[in-house]
Amino acid sequence: MTDQSKTPDSARDGRERPASGGDFGFATLAVHAGNRPEPHTGARITPIYQTSSFVFDSVDHAASLFNLQTFGNIYSRLGNPSVSALEERVAALEGGRGATACASGHAAQFLALTSLMETGDDLVASRFLYGGSFTQFSQSFKRFGWGCTFVDARDPDQVAAAIGPRTKAVFVESQSNPSGVLTDIAALADVAHAHGLPLIVDNTIPSPYLCRPFDLGADLITHSLTKFLGGHGNSLGGAIVESGRFDWKTSGKFPSLSEPNPGYHGLRFDETFGDFAFTVHAHAVALRDFGPTLSPFNAFMIMTGIETLPLRMERHVANAKLVAAWLHDHPKVAWVSYAGLPSSPQYDLGLRQMPRGVAPVFTFGLTGGYDAGIRLVEGVELFSHLANVGDTRSLILHPASTTHRQMSPEDRAQSGAGDDVVRISIGIEAVEDLIADLDQALTRC
Ligand SMILES: *Cc1c(COP(=O)(O)O)cnc(C)c1O
Repeated sequence: MTDQSKTPDSARDGRERPASGGDFGFATLAVHAGNRPEPHTGARITPIYQTSSFVFDSVDHAASLFNLQTFGNIYSRLGNPSVSALEERVAALEGGRGATACASGHAAQFLALTSLMETGDDLVASRFLYGGSFTQFSQSFKRFGWGCTFVDARDPDQVAAAIGPRTKAVFVESQSNPSGVLTDIAALADVAHAHGLPLIVDNTIPSPYLCRPFDLGADLITHSLTKFLGGHGNSLGGAIVESGRFDWKTSGKFPSLSEPNPGYHGLRFDETFGDFAFTVHAHAVALRDFGPTLSPFNAFMIMTGIETLPLRMERHVANAKLVAAWLHDHPKVAWVSYAGLPSSPQYDLGLRQMPRGVAPVFTFGLTGGYDAGIRLVEGVELFSHLANVGDTRSLILHPASTTHRQMSPEDRAQSGAGDDVVRISIGIEAVEDLIADLDQALTRC
């Protein structure tokens, strides 16, 4: 939740407080949102509250906490002050009403959907997804009886055509990993809303510095905090952010949020918590019952990382533009899929939706195919060959032989991870060094 030490009423006012939003610029929020001096010791940085549980003032106090009449800390599976501070910061950066942090980006996707889906329901998802998300949606969620139809989300008509009577959400990545495909968030929000559905946007790759899905009409945002938000490749984390604008009640499609909850004496989340009902439910039911909690230590690491997000993203984008342009002109490179290149068919959408630049994660194709991909990732010296993105370090991967190897060749090609494809995540090093490293490694391809 945004701040668990507040009563529900003062938590509703959270957006007016300087620490969480107001009129401050993005770079100010990145440093200050969610962080106040700790009242007992004056510690300027929110400490790592490494405790599993919190002492109650009295039996009445405990009862009001358990009944959700007062927000406060009970047990760190449901909430912890280090984690709450991070939630407030992420919500402020996205311009959202509240956030729920959890153990990983995959946990965020799982928790977001458990609040929306019943057995037999389905979702419509872009087929340009992170490989792990494709597997999560197409295989593991199927075992809960959740169906998923994958479509080319660049085409809003395909999304509309896939929506059926039991569809509960539309899920896309603002900039897809690994293929770098952008989706027109405003157009897809219109399609989802015309069917009474929320649009969920995984905003991991651009981060809120480059793309703000709520300004374009999205209703929920998921993050892998592991990537650019944490930014240093040292901690896993995830978050779900809610815009506060979606009406969970009218359609009758979301009983977890609008029907009486037996675990809380018949409380209705949307009626009681209004524009942050989803966030309260995500803590009080989803985290409570499924348990993929973020550790206070990881919250602290990610919170610290976020403070330099604007500075890092500026350098990441500047480096990516130069590397992409250099690759584009290289004879062993068949194509480059980076929407920040003027030759990209998505260049205009990129300018409109991500005016500060396109995130530095993209793919390119090698004329030498699968074998050349393997020689390149084994030939680089400065780039790290590993399965992550959004680190200060530059990273490289050949998806067909690693992250996407569980998929069939057809699914791989369809999701932008064919045999010839190499993914890079450009770091913040000196760009000449990155180009020199790629140059020497490409001579072997
Ligand atoms: C990494 C990633 C995820 C999964 O996040 P984890 O923190 O690894 O669980 C989801 N979506 C995208 C776009 C990612 O890059």
